[in-house]
Order: sequence, then C-alpha cells, then structure tokens
Amino acid sequence: MADAIQIDALVVGGGVAGLFTLHALREAGCSALLIESRALGFGQTTSSQGILHAGVKYALGGVAGEDANEASEAAAMWGNFLQGRSGPDLRGIRVLATHEYLWRTASLMGAAGMLGARLALRTRPAVVEPSQRPAWLAGVRGDVLSLPETVIDPADLSRRLAAAAPGAIALGQVRAIRAEPASATVEIEGDGRSARVLARRVFLCAGAGNEALLALAGLGMRVSMQRRPLRQAMVRGPLPMVFGHCIDGARTRITVTSDTDDGRTVWHIGGELAEKGPAMQPDAFVRYARDEVAACMPGVSLAGAEWSSYAVDRAEARTPDTRRPSSAHVQAHGSLVVTWPVKLVLAPRAAQAAVKHIRASRDGADRWPEGWTAPPLAARPWQDATWTRLP
Ligand SMILES: Cc1cc2nc3c(=O)[nH]c(=O)nc-3n(C[C@H](O)[C@H](O)[C@H](O)COP(=O)(O)OP(=O)(O)OC[C@H]3O[C@@H](n4cnc5c(N)ncnc54)[C@H](O)[C@@H]3O)c2cc1C
Repeated sequence: MADAIQIDALVVGGGVAGLFTLHALREAGCSALLIESRALGFGQTTSSQGILHAGVKYALGGVAGEDANEASEAAAMWGNFLQGRSGPDLRGIRVLATHEYLWRTASLMGAAGMLGARLALRTRPAVVEPSQRPAWLAGVRGDVLSLPETVIDPADLSRRLAAAAPGAIALGQVRAIRAEPASATVEIEGDGRSARVLARRVFLCAGAGNEALLALAGLGMRVSMQRRPLRQAMVRGPLPMVFGHCIDGARTRITVTSDTDDGRTVWHIGGELAEKGPAMQPDAFVRYARDEVAACMPGVSLAGAEWSSYAVDRAEARTPDTRRPSSAHVQAHGSLVVTWPVKLVLAPRAAQAAVKHIRASRDGADRWPEGWTAPPLAARPWQDATWTRLP
C-alpha cells in the first residue's frame, strides 16, 4: 500500500537548488520533504568547481552588469553562511581556497580584459607583487591579480545541507504529477515502497531532470529548458594546488581549481576550454587541454601527469539566443515552482525567491515514513574517471 503523505511542500531534486530550497522552506516554518532519484548533487552540483564567484568572470568586458552585481551580492550571503552569521550554518565546510589568481596570456586582448576586470569589479582585486607570486605562475607576463573568491567542496556542501534535514530526504522516482492551482499530488516509488504525496506546492529543482518532470506535469510546452554542453578536463599527478582564471580579453581561457584524490593533486579545468570540448573527440580534447594548460601556465612541469575529461550539461531556462541566462530562474505555475539557479553561488538567492511562493501552514510531516532510504552522495568526477598519460 502507498504511504499517504500530506505536507506544505515537496522538493524534487537533491542538488544545490533543491537542498537550499528545502532549508529555506523549513526555516520559513513549512513542512517540507525532498525526493532525489539518484544521488545528492548528481549532474551539475558534483561537477561544479565550487567557486563562489565574486563576479569577476562577468566583469572582464569592463562593465559590471547585473550578473557581476548579483554574483557579488550572493558571495556576501555565502560569507554569512560560512561564518555562521545566518543559516544554513556552513562553518567548518571544506574550503579549498580563500582567493584565486587572475592572470593573462601575452596578447593585447589579455591586457584589455585585465584592465576591464580592475575597473569594473566592486571589490578591487589586489595586484600580486612578482616576489609574492606562487611558483606555478612563473613565466606569466603582465600583472597577476588576487581575487577574493572562495572555493568550496560542493560534495561537502551537499552533505552538510542534507545533514541539516535528517529524515527529510529520500531516494525515489516520481511516477506522476497531477497539478491543480492550489495543490499537487505526486506519486513516488521508492525502494520497495511507494507514496502518494499531497503538497500545497511542489518545487521542481531537478536540474536537467526538470524537463521530464515538466512534461509529466503537462507543463512541457509552457516552460522550456536549454542544455549547454561542456567537457571539463582533469589532470592528476605531482602538481601544485592551483586556483585561478587565465584570461584573454573577455574570454576566460581556463579556470583551474584543485582537490586531492588518493593523496594526489587533481586539477579540475573549465572555462572556454570546456565550452569548446563537446565539439571534440575525448582523446583530441585532452591533447588540446594539455596545450592550453601549457600555454596558460608555461612555468609548470606537467611531467608524470595523467589526463582525463568528462561531459556534463548545464541545465537552465531557455533564453532566446541560447546564451547563459543573466540570473536564476524561479517561476511559479499554479502549484508548481520551477527553479534553475544558473550558478551554485546563486542557489541560496533562488531558494529565497522560491519560498515566497508559499505561506507556511506547519501542517504535515517533516520526515519520510519509516522504511524510506536516504540517497547516497554523488561521486566527484575524478573518483570514477579513466586516466591516460600523454606522450
Ligand atoms: C562543470 C561545471 C562547473 C561549474 N562550476 C561552478 C562554479 O564554480 N561556481 C558556481 O557558482 N556554479 C558552477 N556551476 C553551476 C552549478 O553547478 C549549477 O548551477 C548548480 O549546481 C545547479 O544545481 P541544481 O540543483 O539546479 O542541479 P543539479 O546539480 O544538476 O541537481 C539536480 C538533482 O536533481 C536530481 N534529479 C534529476 N531528475 C530527478 C527526478 N526526476 N526526480 C528526483 N530527482 C531528480 C539529480 O539526480 C540531481 O541530484 C558549474 C556547473 C558545471 C556543469
């Protein structure tokens, strides 16, 4: 027999959008549960480079537009979480870096981008004196800037947000959604269990999975999603920990963040490199990635390094020109609220906006019934990668 569950809010999807939404709903006094179909953060969150962007990437053209301002406001919110001044309390989260470097390739365009970033940012990046530069920036021409951008471990973020809502997150598949203006009924199948959830609001926070959920709810024609494919590069070996962006004009040629895997450093590399990746074969791509890294960091020895890559899609609300949306998408359609945060750093702001679409009644469960299991945490991309050495 199916469990009958009546609650204020059901959140579908346990990436950073769903986890922050669950937190915001509970803070607002709603009874709220989350259903995840696979693993917490699977897809984009676990692939994220974990940069709490202070807006620099968007200011390279010299104008701090809405994106840069929104990102720097969001970064201030994160400062409060990290210091426990407001919830969710993220004190002690795994912080991989507290600042990043910005440097350029030798072209004139590179120099123009640096100037733009310096003029446009709210928080002026500091110039790093040559004597203070890390050894891995040896051979880089022009100024090197230090940016106040924190880099966190997104898996630790998912783990902490989930731990703050014990019993409220379960593993299961949504089989049907019947949405009425004031409430929705969602049929869910778990591991040997099933449930019929009656919720006043259903928050669709499933990243790329929102597309199928919207179709299931009959909203497929009204809300459109776009996927922007990426191929991220990874390098593993006796490498320094590197955090930063190498720019050329308004282009971010590579963005490198680092972590460790079995005691070895792993570089996780995005930026324009990753945007070009989907058009290449994986083996050609890692060679191209090696050449880009060598061009951007001429002083680093890549001897003994192993290379890998993986494909991942960014899932967002569709824009007319299919470019990145300028801000998070949070929109209510009757009892369904659809969220695509665009960036991990914007997920808390998106959650705050989403919660405005419900008033708490405090009626209903805040835990799944006995027998529902919690989802695992998604693996980081390098944990299941295949590595290759390049000649
Ligand atoms: C390579 C890469 C690097 C990035 N780096 C950064 C960065 O440095 N800084 C930054 O701010 N942003 C970054 N981003 C963007 C950021 O990661 C995303 O905007 C954010 O993680 C999206 O979160 P989400 O919860 O909407 O989606 P996702 O993280 O994709 O999560 C969706 C969740 O829903 C679940 N799901 C799917 N379908 C269903 C279903 N039918 N039922 C139940 N659950 C379902 C999935 O299993 C998953 O757990 C990056 C993105 C990518 C791809």
